[in-house]
Formats: sequence, structure tokens, C-alpha cells
Amino acid sequence: TVTTRPAPTYHQSARLRDVRYDVRGPILTEAMRLEAQGHDILRLNLGNMRPFGLDARPEIVEAVARDLGDGQAYSDSRGIPVAREAVAEHYRRCGIDQISAEDVFLGNGVSELITLVLQALVNPGDEILVPAPDYPTWTGAVNLTGGVPVHYLADEANGWNPSLEDIESKVTPRTKALVLINPNNPTGAVYSEETVRGMADIARRHGLVLLSDEIYEELVFGDAAHHHAALAAGSDVLCLTFGGLSKAYRVCGYRAGWVAATGPLDHAADLLEGITLLSNMRVCPNVPGQYAIPVALAAGTPGSALPADVVDPGGRLQSQLAMASDALNAIPGVSCVPPRGALYCFPRIDREMYGIDDDEEFVLDLLRSEHVLVTHGTGFNWPEPDHFRIVCLPEAGVLERAIASIGDYLARRRLR
Ligand code: PLP
Repeated sequence: TVTTRPAPTYHQSARLRDVRYDVRGPILTEAMRLEAQGHDILRLNLGNMRPFGLDARPEIVEAVARDLGDGQAYSDSRGIPVAREAVAEHYRRCGIDQISAEDVFLGNGVSELITLVLQALVNPGDEILVPAPDYPTWTGAVNLTGGVPVHYLADEANGWNPSLEDIESKVTPRTKALVLINPNNPTGAVYSEETVRGMADIARRHGLVLLSDEIYEELVFGDAAHHHAALAAGSDVLCLTFGGLSKAYRVCGYRAGWVAATGPLDHAADLLEGITLLSNMRVCPNVPGQYAIPVALAAGTPGSALPADVVDPGGRLQSQLAMASDALNAIPGVSCVPPRGALYCFPRIDREMYGIDDDEEFVLDLLRSEHVLVTHGTGFNWPEPDHFRIVCLPEAGVLERAIASIGDYLARRRLR
């Protein structure tokens, strides 16, 4: 006789309990549902260049196409030597003489490398200092390891620079690493030299690893703004710098990213062996995407061929960011620190004035009402439901209309 038993239900692992990535969460599902009903949704939730007419330079695409045949094979698990050397040369141009291709690991975008490096570094219970707000892969990836993300505050009143006092006060004997995201997603902050040095100093005094996400390093605007690379802040601090081609070079679909190790590497051999082991297990990053790296980074030499409309002062992106923050600041009860880098504005919104208790509910309601998709601030681990992030990639006219519709929506929702 065959005994039948009830069909089991299948659950995700307990490790995923605190892992969130709201940028592509329920808000995107709702946007797709509305699109399926025939509505046009203006997606201002992802830093994805191409849908907004910002294509890569042709030589980058051509390099990948040219080498597609060779890209059939697996590569070295850390990436093809010529691309790793191009990354090393990129940092040597920033004044870091000691770095070589041996210190560079390629990955399927920075996203994969964040998870991979944290898996190699973190034991259950280890504390990792992560900014609030953050790019949520950082918090999610720490939770995935069984480590504890400890959020330090970026100070809105100080151009969203991280508060050094808050970081210092949160260091404990269990703290293992300090994450910085500069230029910052979601705030658009470009950290002052004093801030970067101060963070490196905290890492030095407490023996922490600096994990520096610099994927927006070329996207810095305005006279006062200058990107200060964390790896320049001291040869006695172990620094893992994350970068890639997804933003200024506009090929996020190629999944071409890297992490470069600098500082006292003779003390980090075991950690780097762990990163190599996980790179081996992953076999190798997408090979065609790697071919884009030497061409893109050669184009990034001073005075040459990064797409000017993005990186030039007064270029399209800078004027869109300035226009967006001005337009947001003109809405009653909304205030926005003008971004100095990256692609985003992260305005504050007066919760009492608009009766907002749950910011995800707020962005869902805005989406249904105005067909504009933005992301709620708590999705970036901001502690209060009083911010949202808007991607500033559309042409000024489109962006202006989107912000006007946010203003109209808020006017209807206003309580006092
Ligand atoms: N880090 C930050 C701060 C980002 O904003 C993003 C993407 O938006 C990433 C990492 C991931 O980039 P990649 O396309 O290289 O995975």
C-alpha cells in the first residue's frame, strides 16, 4: 500500500530573515502590475543609465563584441590579467604606487563582490559598521553572513557626511570592518577629505578593515566637490575598494566590477586566500564583460573620453541633479540636501504635514496615483519613514514633470 502524506511546504532559509533589497521589492512588483494593465510608469527607482538615453561609448561595446569568441572560455577566477592590470593602473594614477594586478579581483558587478568579500571576512556575531542610509546590499549581505550590521548615521545637516563621533561610539571589541559609500547612494554626498581621513583613522586605531564602495567615483560635480579615495588615506590601513563599470561607463548589464586590496597586505594573506577560494568556487566572472574594463579605464585617463554629458561640470547629469533638488526644495514640507555626486536625490519629507507613518505605503500610494516609482528611505536602512530616493537620470523636462506630480500628490495628501 502507498501511504500518502500531505505535500510539504518549502521555506527559505532562516538566514534570509533579515535580508532585504527593497529597491526591487514589492514597489517594483506593483509597478509591473500597473504596467501590465497598460499604464506608463516612470521608473525612478534604479540607477540604470540606458533607459534614459545614456549609452556607453561605442569603443566599450565594440571591445566586448570583438572578443566575444574568446569569451566562450572560463577565465582565471580572479579575472583576465589585462583587466586586473587596467584596474591596478587606474589606482596607480590616483597615486597608489604599490598596487599590482595581483591585488585586484574581478566580479559580476560590485554586488557579487560585496557578498563574496563579506562571506570571506565575517564570522557570526562580528559587527560591521554600515552607514544609515546605505546601499541596501551592504546591510543585506552582512545579515546573510550571520554578522551584525551596526548602522552609523550620516549627518544630513553636514552634507550627509558620516558622523565620526557616531562611528567612534559604535566601535566594540566585535567590530571587524567599517563600510563607506563615497560618493553616496542614496544621498548624493561626496565625503569631505576630513571625513575620509577621520574614517581611516578610526579603522587604523581599532584595527578595522575599510570596505570602500566607490562605484560612483567619477560622478562628482561642482567646484567644491572632489572624490577622496579611501585607499589614499593611509598605507597602514587595510582597504578593500569596490568599483566597476556600471555607472559612469554605463554598462551595468555587462556586470563588470572589481575589488582592489591595498594597505598592509602582508597581514591580510589569509583573508585574501579566502577571497580567492570563493572566487574559485564561483569559477569566474562573466568573461565578455571583463573585456570592457581595459578599454573603459583607458578612456578614463585625465582629459579623455568618459562620456562628457555625464561627468563634465555643467553636463546633463549635473544640471538634472541641481534642477531636481531645487524643484524638491520648492515643495512645502520637503527639503533636499543638493547632491554633489552620484545619480540621486534623497529628500526629507515632513511626516506630520503629510500624515506618513509608513514610507513604503507612501511610495506605493504615490505610484498608484501618479505612476511615478521612487523608493522609500527605510529601504536604505534610514531609521525614520521620512525620506525617499529619486533617480535623476531622465532629461530635465521629464524629471521636472515627475517632481511636479509628486508636489501635486502631496498637496492632495496634506493634513495641515
Ligand atoms: N554599490 C552602490 C553604492 C550602488 O549604488 C550599486 C548600484 O546601484 C552597486 C554597488 C552595485 O553595482 P553593480 O552594478 O556593480 O553590481
